[in-house]
Amino acid sequence: MGTIVTDVARICVLAHLIRASHGASGPPRGGRRGAGNRGRGGSTKEQRVSGVSSADAPADVREVVSRLRAEYPRARTELDFRDAFELLVATVLSAQTTDARVNSVTPELFGRWAGPEGLAGADPAEVEKVLKPLGMGPTRAARVIALARALLADHGGEVPDDQDALEALPGVGRKTAFVVRGVHFGRSLLAVDTHVTRVAGRLGWTRSRQARTVEHDVVALVQSADAAAEEGDAEEGDAREGDAAAETSDPTTDLTALSLRLILHGRRVCTARSPHCAECTLADLCPRIGVAA
Ligand code: SF4
Repeated sequence: MGTIVTDVARICVLAHLIRASHGASGPPRGGRRGAGNRGRGGSTKEQRVSGVSSADAPADVREVVSRLRAEYPRARTELDFRDAFELLVATVLSAQTTDARVNSVTPELFGRWAGPEGLAGADPAEVEKVLKPLGMGPTRAARVIALARALLADHGGEVPDDQDALEALPGVGRKTAFVVRGVHFGRSLLAVDTHVTRVAGRLGWTRSRQARTVEHDVVALVQSADAAAEEGDAEEGDAREGDAAAETSDPTTDLTALSLRLILHGRRVCTARSPHCAECTLADLCPRIGVAA
């Protein structure tokens, strides 16, 4: 039965990729599907480098999720924060810099101007000095002050658990809103950054470098795999009807945890320039799309 379930999951995954490659899914906002990395003849730059065929089977989703969970038991963001507001501000500040750099300035930032009330009334020149190590100090200072003011004006200083409301705030995009709603409010959302894009691409889960398309592709794969697992669990349950001790595994993948683990894996093992495939827990599953032999 286990073999049949695995085969069903693989068929779902391959069917999805075939549909995706023929444009069955809609284009992402603001760009042609996969336009970011496709060359003539439909092959990607990464695929030309590696010589890996697009027919390579994508890594088994459920097995990847399981192994990443074992490798990174605590799925967490590496940003330091104490509440939803600090998580929101830290995530906004993390654009085009590292979490470690953000963590080096936020203790002073949040210490001097606590909460949205404090930051909304801050002197931009003073905030700029604190944020200078991140680069683009004036822009970042103006952005977080505007964010604090808008949060006070529109939401009484409370961070909303609402995608549209969050994306309406200055400096907040889809990824930042997903991080806040996933990490603080416990929603299951796949926040896509450069690490998720790279690792998912190498695993054969997407051919795109466009965040919205990567999100669409990976979520579709996960949902197909979860549905196949649920079906398998139901069949096993029928076969063992009356067995009070029979337990089924939870087939629902937490997309927030998956996103955070893909980010950790991308930072520590599946690095941009020289992925450490020999030490990777996914080595025997991964088609290594775009990785030079
Ligand atoms: S490190 Fe290598 S084997 Fe591991 S996920 Fe990245 S490309 Fe695949």
